[in-house]
Amino acid sequence: MITLAHCQALDARDPLAFLRASFAQPQEDTIYLDGNSVGAMPADAPDRVQALLTQGWRDARRRGWSYFDWLEKPWLLGQALSHLLGARPQDVIFSDNTSVNLFKLLAYAWKINPQRPVIVSERYNFPTDIYVAQGLAHFLDGQAQLRLIDHPDELSAALGPDVGVVYLSHVDYRSSYRWPMRQTSQAVHACGALVFWDLSHAAGAIPVELQADGADFAVGCGYKYLCGGPGAPAWLYVHPHHQEKDWPVIAGWMGHEDVFAFAPNYAPLAGVRRHLTGSPSILANQAMSAAADLWKQFKPADLGWKHQSLSELLVDLLHERCAHLGVRVTSPLDYAQRGGHLTFSHPGAGSVTEALLAHGVVSSFRKPDSIRFGLSPLYLSHADIWTAVERLVQVLETEVWKEPRFAKVSV
Ligand SMILES: *Cc1c(COP(=O)(O)O)cnc(C)c1O
Repeated sequence: MITLAHCQALDARDPLAFLRASFAQPQEDTIYLDGNSVGAMPADAPDRVQALLTQGWRDARRRGWSYFDWLEKPWLLGQALSHLLGARPQDVIFSDNTSVNLFKLLAYAWKINPQRPVIVSERYNFPTDIYVAQGLAHFLDGQAQLRLIDHPDELSAALGPDVGVVYLSHVDYRSSYRWPMRQTSQAVHACGALVFWDLSHAAGAIPVELQADGADFAVGCGYKYLCGGPGAPAWLYVHPHHQEKDWPVIAGWMGHEDVFAFAPNYAPLAGVRRHLTGSPSILANQAMSAAADLWKQFKPADLGWKHQSLSELLVDLLHERCAHLGVRVTSPLDYAQRGGHLTFSHPGAGSVTEALLAHGVVSSFRKPDSIRFGLSPLYLSHADIWTAVERLVQVLETEVWKEPRFAKVSV
């Protein structure tokens, strides 16, 4: 039997425990397992934004561009994140949102080998990823073709001499299945194609080795495990080999080699920064700088230990305490095949999620019968996981979730 004391002993060894106090406690005291949707708020984010509003907007106005690091923030934030991605500091920037970055880099990657017109992806990839690829194929009037696989096992059969880009989510947003990045990149490269990863459900939850594991391109969202705030800008990565191959897809002035020269003709900035488009979202970047200062304070290996420990504890607790109550873990049982969250099924999942909320556990429901517990290693403790499962057991044992007040399920 796993005990609370065992969980507390793990917490005593937690190399990231010191980060917990850097996050603000919300008004209502809940166990927050929805960091895979919007991560928690660093405690000093409001003061930083407030300072920007008064010193930057109210007082400095246009002069803010020279008084503050507004212009540099997109790459300063990228540098702060790079060690967690296994990237060089100069190879990551923050800009736009994930969807826009997906389009920018998918079109850029596709154009590197236009004689290989096929983009391979997963049919059940995150919707925006698929829509962006469909939109690109539509824009190119059939020059680019999409080849969709239904299961990771089908990838090798889908590869061939016509494939230019393989475009995957590193971690599946429903099941949390994690692709083996190194082996997949090797297989894709062996067929002569490039590999483009969406790390929205990985970055900030598990350490990643983009350069060592052969990623050609990658993007990820800023507001989930990275705790950049609602609607935070997203990041993008381009392998050094590909950075100077072409113009960026959106040749905006912030990606020009001399932005304030106001030159009549476009010339791209060196390196990955050419993918900057227009004015950065200065308020949003300011909020995210609070999180960025936290990322800098820990090592990828500590993030890896903590996440694995939380994730395995949750699996063990669900097996031990909830299996007889109709809970089945549907994420892969091998930790190496799991990403940020853990998914389990229950026939009443929607109502169970609502009842959990009323019992102080915030999680998310995915149709038809899945519950996701997002496991942020930055602010969750092992004792939190124990308490969340305790409350789940209570909801299931008492069958309180069957009450009509939990019948209406918010998505
Ligand atoms: C959350 C998420 C996104 C978010 O896209 P935005 O354009 O930033 O809203 C994209 N892809 C995946 C896989 C995600 O999980």
